[in-house]
Amino acid sequence: MIYKRSSELFAAAKEVIPGGVNSPVRAFNAVGGEPLFIKEAKGAYMYDEDGNKYIDYINSWGPLILGHAFDPVVNAVIEKAKKGTSFGTPTEIETTIAELAVSMVPNIDKIRFVNSGTEACMSAVRLARGFKNREKIIKFAGCYHGHSDSFLIQAGSGAVTFGTPNSPGVTQGTAKDTLLATYNDLESVEDLLKANQGEIACIILEPIAGNMGCIPPKEGFLEGLRKLCDEYDVLLIFDEVMTGFRLARGGAQELTGVDADIVCFGKVIGGGLPVGAFAARTEIMDYLAPTGPVYQAGTLSGNPLAMAAGLAMLTELNDNPEIYTSLAQKTEYLHKGIAEVLIKNNVTHTINRRGSMISVHFAEEAVVDFTSAAKGNNDTFKKFFHGLLENGIYIAPSAFETWFLTDALSYEDLDATIAAVDKVSKEL
Ligand code: PMP
Repeated sequence: MIYKRSSELFAAAKEVIPGGVNSPVRAFNAVGGEPLFIKEAKGAYMYDEDGNKYIDYINSWGPLILGHAFDPVVNAVIEKAKKGTSFGTPTEIETTIAELAVSMVPNIDKIRFVNSGTEACMSAVRLARGFKNREKIIKFAGCYHGHSDSFLIQAGSGAVTFGTPNSPGVTQGTAKDTLLATYNDLESVEDLLKANQGEIACIILEPIAGNMGCIPPKEGFLEGLRKLCDEYDVLLIFDEVMTGFRLARGGAQELTGVDADIVCFGKVIGGGLPVGAFAARTEIMDYLAPTGPVYQAGTLSGNPLAMAAGLAMLTELNDNPEIYTSLAQKTEYLHKGIAEVLIKNNVTHTINRRGSMISVHFAEEAVVDFTSAAKGNNDTFKKFFHGLLENGIYIAPSAFETWFLTDALSYEDLDATIAAVDKVSKEL
């Protein structure tokens, strides 16, 4: 493929934007080469500035569960924009989408909208700290909860891709209040709870991890966390920025049957516009300003265009729950097809999957936490990534990311993907 125009645009971008990108994972640093500049997209396909076509497995890093430029979302945004883009006052649509979200997700009474997943997690943790009047939190190595200071401690996603899981600029004072546990290891959590009794406000995690590649919770892990939180009187926060409205209408809580105390959303809830949210039972949510003492705010929070996109997306998912079965079936089909050709071509691998999230780890052993994810062969991943790209398949340019399927993918698209994996894996 020819990437001439992308390359020219990247050179121009680098002059005025650090690294040429507004979010590090978009750059191809981890795999080598230069990022593609995308011109347009529809359904399962993206087209770059040189006119190359790709079957997309990133889907804006998760939001586009029904494909690019999904008509109901696009039309809702256009219609809303004609009436004004922002007022900074309450609007009816905020209540409409809040009512819908609360009805779809188990175990929440109230929800507040923000502008990103980062804001959602940052605010949820502040709320937990305020509510419990305690300062320490527990997070898991390899989980990513956005780029606010408390979370850039052994963070996954771009933070680990770029070799800075602990970012300079985060003060030691902040870092000391984030305690680190091992994903899928309840003992590591209990040790921290025992050693810091009465000091921990909350445990935050991705209930199905996606930021060290896809890593589902082991049987009993989430249930065990719930039990520990009850025993030690600590709030459990599910960061469902990836999983919310993606794995089921009610997200991971519905899928696993485990209740969290606070739930964070992003990605799908905004239908591709900048939206995040956090939600909990009334007692906790009313601890927020203006009813409670914990401060949290936003000039563009609940923005009408963003709410219109989110409402159109959630309405579609709520009205058509069979989408989740269809997505899971497509993902299973892809899993089987990829596994078959990788085995045939003698490529060492482990595939993790849950719902419409899937990752191919080039690792021999089961990938269950950050340490086992990091053992994956990055040289193999780089070749795999570039081989697929060359064959019109666009996956995230890092091994520490999950693939996101969209229901716009046809079985022909999946077959084309499996055929490309077959071709590429012969040369790994
Ligand atoms: N939490 C999780 C689980 C995420 O995957 C992400 C982003 N990938 C975030 C939080 C941060 O969201 P945003 O990039 O919208 O700030």
